[in-house]
Amino acid sequence: MVKEGRYLDGKHAVVTGGSRGIGAAVAASLAKRGARLTLMGRSLDALEKHAVVLKRDCGAEVQAVQCDVTDDQGVRAAFGRARAAFGPVDVLVNNAGAAEAAPFSGISRALWDRMLAVNLTGTFMCTSEVLPAMLQMRNGRIVNVASMAALRGYKTMTAYSAAKHGVLGLTRSLALETARHGVTVNAVCPGYTDTDLTDTGVANLVRALGNTPDEALAMLVRTIPRGKLIEPDEVASAVTWLCSPGAAAVTGIALPIAGGESV
Ligand code: NDP
Repeated sequence: MVKEGRYLDGKHAVVTGGSRGIGAAVAASLAKRGARLTLMGRSLDALEKHAVVLKRDCGAEVQAVQCDVTDDQGVRAAFGRARAAFGPVDVLVNNAGAAEAAPFSGISRALWDRMLAVNLTGTFMCTSEVLPAMLQMRNGRIVNVASMAALRGYKTMTAYSAAKHGVLGLTRSLALETARHGVTVNAVCPGYTDTDLTDTGVANLVRALGNTPDEALAMLVRTIPRGKLIEPDEVASAVTWLCSPGAAAVTGIALPIAGGESV
């Protein structure tokens, strides 16, 4: 019998970008539901540190696997290692991502390629690694961490926003293909969240506009009707719900977690 609330007992969940920010919170939340976790990211040291915390605080089985989601061969090798230790993947959270700001005239081909590679193509590559087994098991949950920038435009964020809009296209189309096979595919769309990525956004505004960090942060917070940043744990609880038995009929959605910000 499943212990109350531990509906992911024994399930293998992979969280990309699981070392810090939203991914670290998602990993902790899934661990509390009983999942065995594979954390992926580029810095093995950061992944191992978070794995220690999860083992200590949640008693979870956790492995850290180095993986740059923009490196196709690296992704294949990383998922091979993940499966070898914990078996087929039941839950995939495509969270690894990065945001670079520039006015359209300042977007080089290299910046454009970087944004698509980490935010969109990485999601495609990781999904391709887990989907065949999920379809065979007739069971699987895929949650893509998109952004409010997947639903609307943001000034100076053209490449990031285009990539995140692409993540929604992938989510909605794949959900149609997998709906009859026990596999759900959903996206969450956070507004500005209190992580390193937002700190970088604040630093960029300070550089571009010459205002103070507090003024720059206030500019971002003004876009959130509730008047404060989203917390990583708030994104994590939505992701965890999408992986719960109660969300079995939910697929192909883009769920804003944005304190009232709308499209
Ligand atoms: P952070 O910068 O705090 O964390 C990013 C994570 O992704 C880190 O674990 C990082 O680890 C990993 N990562 C980055 N690049 C790669 C890569 N090439 N391969 C593998 N892992 C990588 O960001 P957030 O937690 O804020 O962002 C998480 C997700 O949420 C992203 O997809 C972001 O676009 C999205 N999001 C964030 C919002 C925000 O305001 N913060 C709002 C909306 C969406 P490492 O550097 O070691 O690789």
